[in-house]
Amino acid sequence: MLKYVKYVILFFILFLTLKGGDTILNGLSPWDAFAQMGKFSTVITSMTVGFILLVLIVVGDIFVERFFCRYLCPLGAVFSLTSRISLLKINKLNDKCGKCRMCTNNCSMGLKLYSMNSIRGGECINCLKCVEVCPRKNPCVNIMDKDVNPSMASSFAIAIFAGIYGLTNFGNSIITKAGIASTNSVVSNNVNTADTSQNSVSTSQNTKYKDGTYTGSGTGFNGGTTKVSVTVNGGKITDIKTVSTDDTPRFYQYAESTIPNEIISSQSSSVDTVSGATYSSRGIIEAVQNALDNAK
Ligand code: SF4
Ligand code: SF4
Repeated sequence: MLKYVKYVILFFILFLTLKGGDTILNGLSPWDAFAQMGKFSTVITSMTVGFILLVLIVVGDIFVERFFCRYLCPLGAVFSLTSRISLLKINKLNDKCGKCRMCTNNCSMGLKLYSMNSIRGGECINCLKCVEVCPRKNPCVNIMDKDVNPSMASSFAIAIFAGIYGLTNFGNSIITKAGIASTNSVVSNNVNTADTSQNSVSTSQNTKYKDGTYTGSGTGFNGGTTKVSVTVNGGKITDIKTVSTDDTPRFYQYAESTIPNEIISSQSSSVDTVSGATYSSRGIIEAVQNALDNAK
């Protein structure tokens, strides 16, 4: 029964984000809490729920293999539904079995394999442990009704992942080098994307600014306006101060503890947002960029 908890969590997340927008879960994610563990006191105060969930997951994992995967992962719930139409399945004929139940005892997802003839998707994560441990070599990997060598299936999957990774990470630079798209258009696209939804607002690191103190504003969490002052000295950004903000304090403080320093040290507003305070970070970045536009 516990395996249905992840479907409830998936439904809960979808319901909340549809009703309250994608910021409503800020501070609730255990992974955000994990990513910020270096700032432990901030995690405790700003991400209390996320931290409690993280502790529960770690404790659960000590006692049950893949505790989070089996019972809590909302993405696992989605995959569990979509993988029911998977082309890959594992065949295991019961009448060829002994009474060892080694496959069941070793199944990463705790499936009762001894009572099944075949497993396709659903709760099975295709780890192939059952194939590996069976003394009779009974379970076999089957793709589109053809039994295949498990090593070949794994190599094929690795090749596909490597291909996707290569395409997404190196595709842009290859296209640019090949002259299919100019560097300017790629940069310009980044700027447009950043204005709307990405984690940072791009600006050239080589831009020269006039000395002085400039103010700018940006939109942060829940539409709150953030106003900052940016001091430029010797053509460099030397100080960033908050003038006023309507942002939510716990998220704003979190973003403010990192973003201004990052911008000053990189001399660019192209910095990553702080996980768990994404929108507040964007508000500060946008405000700084706005002020720098006046300094050019
Ligand atoms: S480990 Fe192999 S022989 Fe044993 S129950 Fe599982 S499939 Fe059957
Ligand atoms: S492939 Fe892994 S998760 Fe699927 S049945 Fe076998 S051991 Fe269990």
